[in-house]
Amino acid sequence: MELKRRLLRRPRPYPDESLAGYIIRLAEANYYSSTNQIFQMSGLRQRIIYANVFHPKQDDLSQLSFLCDVPESVLWSMAFPVVNKSRHLHKQMVEVFGEVVLTRTLEYLWVKLCPVCLQAEPYYRRIWNLSVVTACSIHDCLLLNTCPACQLPIGWVRNSVVRCSCQEDWRNYQPLESIWDAEFF
Ligand SMILES: [Zn+2]
Ligand SMILES: [Zn+2]
Repeated sequence: MELKRRLLRRPRPYPDESLAGYIIRLAEANYYSSTNQIFQMSGLRQRIIYANVFHPKQDDLSQLSFLCDVPESVLWSMAFPVVNKSRHLHKQMVEVFGEVVLTRTLEYLWVKLCPVCLQAEPYYRRIWNLSVVTACSIHDCLLLNTCPACQLPIGWVRNSVVRCSCQEDWRNYQPLESIWDAEFF
């Protein structure tokens, strides 16, 4: 019989953290080379597009729940669950902050992040997943979606929430003021 073990390091999730971001944080805390290992151990498909979208009928979070010792209900509250799965991705509906919306309301491929939020607490806020959200309302700055050092888009298959594969630490980056802030205040 296979002996099941929990991850050695099991950081607690934040209430506004995304599940996709939490999985990167688990990989980082346990010194895995990427999120692939966490997905493999959890029996889940690796996320590349719409990374924080999970399907209640296909994605069994019970193994992940065991690995990180966080109740499944809490993990689901961090994800954007699919409400009606459609063969056409552009017709698929997801639940986002209590509202049922089209999947395309969310960022398709890349991570967006606020470097100043990461300085305060290094985790990914769920709200950054919305495609309309391009600025941080707390710090009045634009979110980063490409690494300022290597200029590559920030993807989901990584091993750090704060550091690019080029080793740039985004917490050191001084972000641009949002246009709204610069023009109207
Ligand atoms: Zn911020
Ligand atoms: Zn980089």
